[in-house]
Amino acid sequence: MQNSSPEFSVVIPIYNEEENIPELYRRLTDVMEKLCSDAGHPPDNYEIILVDDGSIDHSWELIKELHEKDPRVKGISFSRNFGHHIAISAGLDYSKGNAVILMDGDLQDPPEEIPKLYNKFKEGYELIYGIRQQRQDPFLKKITSKLFWWILRRFSGVDIPQGQTMLRILSRRHVNTLNEMREYARFIHGMMAWVGFKTSTLEVKHTPRLKGQSKYNIPKMFILAFHAITSFSTVPLRLAAYIGFTCSFISFIVGIYFIYQKIFHGIPVLGYASIIVSIFFVGGIQLLVLGIFGEYLGRTYQETQKRPLYIAKEYID
Ligand code: UDP
Ligand code: MG
Repeated sequence: MQNSSPEFSVVIPIYNEEENIPELYRRLTDVMEKLCSDAGHPPDNYEIILVDDGSIDHSWELIKELHEKDPRVKGISFSRNFGHHIAISAGLDYSKGNAVILMDGDLQDPPEEIPKLYNKFKEGYELIYGIRQQRQDPFLKKITSKLFWWILRRFSGVDIPQGQTMLRILSRRHVNTLNEMREYARFIHGMMAWVGFKTSTLEVKHTPRLKGQSKYNIPKMFILAFHAITSFSTVPLRLAAYIGFTCSFISFIVGIYFIYQKIFHGIPVLGYASIIVSIFFVGGIQLLVLGIFGEYLGRTYQETQKRPLYIAKEYID
């Protein structure tokens, strides 16, 4: 029988991962049982929380089957797809462990790396990030991800360790703090860095996805990138001022040049094309800046609605 507050919680977001769940469960269980006994706890002193983020395959049925056999497996099923980082937040809300392990459900994060993370965690940290030794992802994913992290690190103003995987381990105190942050636009990596506390990193293996394809499509990646940048930086808003200043300055110089040409050389400024091009250029910049304002305004509106972060249609405990 498991006590109400286990030593470890493992939180895993699941979106159409039916092909990966059995192997994930098998490998994770081996690791967790051994970890519990090595740490001097009974072998059932952990919980695995699988958060089904609105899967349309048989993931939820599989999770329920696992729970029937093994009560250490718990589950939350969302009413629809809310997104990776919200699924993780739901798992964190629900977790009770003193140490909380996060990992993805496609076995890109090998469970066998957990004991290594825990050994470092025991030295007195509130969070140990897993850092990929070598990233095992398709080329396009690596490039877009590099660009995203570059922009983010440059503008976010929080120190977000580079190359992090989802595999990490957090203390109860860290998780409780995160759970108090209820913003709708969730970018977990930034939020964790923002919390602070004593953290460290540790290199872990990263393997290719066991089965299936990445559940992140291009629009999902863009939304996450927007959330990340707008939640951690207001630099884009200042962009309007920078662009405005640069445009006025250049126009001023060009204007002086035209007056000079007219007065001293008698050359009138010709050109219908140049006028049209500059109108469109300035119009484009204005729309871009309005778009950025709109993005922040929309975000502010969304946050003021104070809707729940997610809707769960079923819990299994
Ligand atoms: N995931 C999720 N909701 C989504 C997309 C992904 O819960 O909308 C889960 C997915 O099942 C996996 C983890 O988040 O366990 C990471 O997703 P994925 O492996 O597709 O992302 P990638 O590794 O390609 O960045
Ligand atoms: Mg993956």
